[in-house]
Amino acid sequence: MALLPVLTAPNPRLKIKAEPVERVDEEVRRLMDDMLETMYASDGMGLAATQVGIDKRIIVIDLHAGENGKPPRVMKLANPEVLWASEETAFVDEACLSVPNLYAAVGRPTSIKIRYLNEHNKLVEIEEDGPLARCIQHEIDHLDGILYIDHLSRLKREIMVRKLMKARKY
Ligand SMILES: [Zn+2]
Repeated sequence: MALLPVLTAPNPRLKIKAEPVERVDEEVRRLMDDMLETMYASDGMGLAATQVGIDKRIIVIDLHAGENGKPPRVMKLANPEVLWASEETAFVDEACLSVPNLYAAVGRPTSIKIRYLNEHNKLVEIEEDGPLARCIQHEIDHLDGILYIDHLSRLKREIMVRKLMKARKY
């Protein structure tokens, strides 16, 4: 396994729309494992391939990452698609490894139904709500070149990007 460099905003590569994988083979599985290792090393709970500069539609999530005593709840998804989203939305604080040390509340549907290929190349459909539904939507956004700060007002986003760039100078 290997640690991959995580890109941070405003890196233009975070804006690239990722391409679907043909199938989940050994190479994709290795990438999923490397992404998971990178995510844990960075204290994240989800990571999209876009964030490590790879334009493939792959995400990994461990909803229990960083929660002591809880067993891992790992998901490895290729080509995830939202089939349905609830009309009900909620505003909850989000953070992102590509927007380090900042957070902001983002409005998203509270429940979703998705379809994806799992690590065994099997097509799976699931319905999720709560923090996992939010995390999946956040990561799918990455594959479409969208950061959570893109859901904020322009003014708020500009303030956050300025903070990021300032933090990088020191
Ligand atoms: Zn993110």
